[in-house]
Amino acid sequence: MASSGGVRNGVGPRMSAKPDRQGFSATPKTAAGKQRLSSSAAAAGGAYRRTSSGPLPSRAASDGVSSRVRVAVRLRPRNAEELAADADFGDCVELQPELKRLKLRKNNWESETYEFDEVLTEFSSQKRVYEVVAKPVVESVMEGYNGTVMAYGQTGTGKTFTLGRLGEEDTAARGIMVRAMEDILADITHGTDSVSVSYIQLYMEMIQDLLDPVNDNIAIVEDPRTGDVSLPGATVVEVRDQKSFVDLLRVGEAHRVAANTKLNTESSRSHAILMVNVRRSVKGRTEMDVSISGENGHSSSMMGSLRPPIVRKSKLVVVDLAGSERIDKSGSEGHTLEEAKSINLSLSALGKCINALAESSPHVPVRDSKLTRLLKDSFGGTARTSLVVTIGPSPRHRGETTSTIMFGQRAMKVENMVKLKEEFDYKSLCRRLDIELDKLIAENERQRKYFDDEVERIRAEAQCRIAEAERECKITLENEKMKYHQEYLDSIRIMEEKWKVHQQSPKKQNKEAESTSNNTGEVHNLLQNEKMLRQSAEDEASDLKNQVSHWKKLEATATAEVVKLRKMLDAEASQKEKLEEEIDVLRSQLLQMSMEADETRRSLDKGDGPGKIFPGLDSLVSQTRGSQPREQSNGPKQPIAKLFEQVGLKKILSLLESEEPDVRVHAVKVVANLAAEEANQEKIVEAGGLTSLLTLLRSSEDETIRRVAAGAIANLAMNETNQDLIMDQGGVTLLSMTASDAEDPQTLRMVAGAIANLCGNDKLQTRLRGEGGIKALLGMVRCGHPDVLAQVARGIANFAKCESRAATQGNKVGKSLLIDDGSLPWIVKNANNEAAPIRRHIELALCHLAQHEVNSKDIINEGALWELVRISRDCSREDIRRLAYRTVTSSPTLQAEIRRLGIKM
Ligand code: ADP
Ligand code: MG
Repeated sequence: MASSGGVRNGVGPRMSAKPDRQGFSATPKTAAGKQRLSSSAAAAGGAYRRTSSGPLPSRAASDGVSSRVRVAVRLRPRNAEELAADADFGDCVELQPELKRLKLRKNNWESETYEFDEVLTEFSSQKRVYEVVAKPVVESVMEGYNGTVMAYGQTGTGKTFTLGRLGEEDTAARGIMVRAMEDILADITHGTDSVSVSYIQLYMEMIQDLLDPVNDNIAIVEDPRTGDVSLPGATVVEVRDQKSFVDLLRVGEAHRVAANTKLNTESSRSHAILMVNVRRSVKGRTEMDVSISGENGHSSSMMGSLRPPIVRKSKLVVVDLAGSERIDKSGSEGHTLEEAKSINLSLSALGKCINALAESSPHVPVRDSKLTRLLKDSFGGTARTSLVVTIGPSPRHRGETTSTIMFGQRAMKVENMVKLKEEFDYKSLCRRLDIELDKLIAENERQRKYFDDEVERIRAEAQCRIAEAERECKITLENEKMKYHQEYLDSIRIMEEKWKVHQQSPKKQNKEAESTSNNTGEVHNLLQNEKMLRQSAEDEASDLKNQVSHWKKLEATATAEVVKLRKMLDAEASQKEKLEEEIDVLRSQLLQMSMEADETRRSLDKGDGPGKIFPGLDSLVSQTRGSQPREQSNGPKQPIAKLFEQVGLKKILSLLESEEPDVRVHAVKVVANLAAEEANQEKIVEAGGLTSLLTLLRSSEDETIRRVAAGAIANLAMNETNQDLIMDQGGVTLLSMTASDAEDPQTLRMVAGAIANLCGNDKLQTRLRGEGGIKALLGMVRCGHPDVLAQVARGIANFAKCESRAATQGNKVGKSLLIDDGSLPWIVKNANNEAAPIRRHIELALCHLAQHEVNSKDIINEGALWELVRISRDCSREDIRRLAYRTVTSSPTLQAEIRRLGIKM
C-alpha cells in the first residue's frame, strides 16, 4: 500500500511517456467559441489522428494504433440534502485539477491520491466537460474511427446530467449527447454523408428500443467476419437537424421513464445507450485505394468503373450506465435475488472485463453479458474511448466513491487499437452495376429480338429458294427423261433399219470394205508427211534457241568490258587530278626557288643596306621590285607576277592551308612577296589574304611561316586602308597574342613593325590602345634585340606624334595613353640607347609627350625631364635638339620645375 499522500495511480508515468496524450488536454484551445471540428484537429491531434491524414502508410489503417482509454473524474456539487446533512463534515474528496489529482480522505489524517487524465471540479461547466471528455472522440468519429463516451458512477452523481441534459431551459446546461450531435451535424457534408441514431436501454439483459418501446427484446447480431456487433432490430432514425435529434432524445427519455415505471425500477438500474452512426463518403485517393492498387498491381484506369466508392462508417456510442452502487444497499424495489443478480450482471461483467484488460489477461469475458458484448469495440477494441467517472462529495458514500475511483483507475490501463472504419461501398457500386446491368439486359433483349427476326427472315427466304430450285429441277429432269427416251426410240429404229439393210445385200458390204482400206492407206501417208514437217519445225526451233543463248553470252561479255573500261576511265581521272595538284605544288616551289635564286644573286651583287627598318622584308620586296628593271628590260614579265597570274591568287591563298608543310611555307613566302608590292596589296586583302595571314600567324607552329606571315602583315599595315581592315578583323588582338608568345626576334620585329605602323594612324589611336596594342608593344622589349627595340621605339614615337597632333588640333584633353599604359619608365631608360634608331625615336617621342601640358607631371615624376634637358643640350641632331629646347621652355610646369631645381637652360 502506498503511504498517505502518495500517488496511487500506476498509469501516470506510462501515460506521460506516450505520444497520444491528446485526450483530455484540449480544453484551452477548443474552449474558444464554436469551431468547426476539423479546425480543432490540431488541439486534439494525436497518434491515430496522424494515421488518417498524415503520411503513414495503409498498414496503420489496417493494423490500428494504440490508444489508451481516457478517464476523467467529475465531482458533483453538494446537493441541498448534503448541504444540510453533511454541513459539519468536510468532503471526502479533495481535487487538485491543475495536477490532475484527486485526494480521497480516509479519515482526518489519512488520504490517498489518484491521478486521472482530467479532474473536473464541481465548478466545471458542461461545455468544458464536453470539450475535454467527448470532443476528441467526436472528432475521431468524424474522421472514420469508432468512438465511445461512457459515464460510470453511483446513482445521483451526475451521469445523466453529464451525458443526457437537453439544456432546453438553459443552453449552457446541454450535455454531451446534444453537443456531440451539434458538432457532427456541423461537420458532415449534406448530400453525401449521413447520420442516423438508435437509442436503446439495457435492463435485466434485455434490450429495449427507446424509440419504439414495444420492441423490447432486440437481439445482438455479430458479424462473423469482422466481429462487429449491431442491433438490426432497433429503430434507426436518420438525423438531419439538431431539433429533430433533441426531439428524439426527449422521446427516448420519456419512454425510458415510462418503461422503468412499468418494470417497477428506476432509470438508475438500466443502461441507456445512444448509438450514432456516421457514414461519410471519401473523396480522392485513400489509404484503401493505395493498398488495393498496390496489392494487385492493376492500373487505376482499369479499375476505374469497377472500383467501388469508399465510405467511412464510424459509430459513436454514448453510454449512460446504471448506477454503480451495489443493489443490496439500495435494494428497496423488492426484487428477488435472481433479479438483483440479473440487474447487476452487465455492470459486474463490465468490471471483470476491464480488470482482465487492465491486467492484460489472456481471457476477457466479453460474452458474459449483453453490455460487454455491445461494448466489445469500446474496451480493448478499435474505438477511441473516453470514460467519465462521476462522484459525489459526501463522506457517507465514501465506499461507493472509492470503488468508482478504482474502476476509473483500472479503465485507464485499457489499451485500444484504434482503426479506421473505411470500407468499399459495395452497395452503391452494386446499385450502379444494377443500373448498368439493366441497361445491358434491355440492350441484349433488343439485339436478341432483332437476331431472331433476322433468322426467321433468312429461313423463310431459304425455304422459298429451295422450293423454287426443286421445281426447276423437276422440270429439267422431266425434259431430259423425255429427250433420252426419244433418242432411245430413234436409235432402235435406226438399228432396225440397218439390220434390215444388212440382211438384204452382203456383196455391197464387201465393196465398202475395200474402199475403206484404200482410204486408210491415204490417211497413213498424210500422217507420215505431217510427222516429217513437224520434225523439221522442231529442229528449226532448237536452232533458234541455241542462237539466242549464244547472243546472250556475247552481251554479258560486252557489259563486263564496258564496266572495266569505265573503271579505267575513273582511275585516269583521279590520276589527272593528282597530277594537277602536283603541278600546282611544283609551280609554287619553282616560284620560291626562283625568288631565292634572285635573292642570292642580288645579295651577291649588292649586300644588305644598313639602317633599314625591314631589311628582311626589303629583300623580299626587292625580289619583285629589285629585279624589275632587269626582267623588264628583257621583255617578258618577272617570274612571280607571271606565276601569280598563272596560278591565281585564290589558289596561292588556298595553299596557305595545304596539308603539306613545305607547300605552306612556299605559299606564305609568295604571299609575303606579293604583299610587298603595293599594287598587289588591295587584291590580296580583297581575296581574304589578310585574314588568312592573321590566322596563320596565330595557328602555325612553324617559326618561318610565322615570321614571313608577320612580315607580310607588317607590309600590309603600311597602307591606311589596310590598317582599318586589320583593326576590323581583330588583327591587333592576334598581333598582341603573337607578341606575347613568339620567341624569335625576327618574328617579334615584324609584329612590332606592324603595330608601329598602326600607331601612326590618328583615327585608330583609342581602339589600338583599347585592344592592347601599346601593352603588346611594350611587352616585346623583353626580347632585348635592338631591331625589335627600334620598332617598339618607332611605334611609341608614332603614337606620341599622333597624340600631340590631336592636342594641337584641340581634340585631346586627357593624359597620354602611352603614359597611362606605363611606357614612360622604358622611354626614360632607353632615351640614351646607344643604337641610333632606338634613341632617335625615343627622343622624338619624349618631345611629343612633353609638348602636352597634362603629361608634365608624369614627365617630372618619372625623371623624363632630365632626359629632355639632356636632349636639348647634347643631341647630335640639331632639329631634335631645338625641338627639345622649345618644348621644355614653352611648358610652364616644366619651366617651374627647372627653376625649382636650379637648372640652367
Ligand atoms: P445519475 O444519472 O448519476 O443518477 P443525475 O444526473 O440524475 O445522476 O444527477 C442527480 C442530481 O444531481 C440531479 O438533480 C442533477 O441535476 C444533479 N447534478 C448532477 N451533477 C450535477 C452537477 N455537476 N452540477 C449540478 N447539479 C448536478
Ligand atoms: Mg441517471
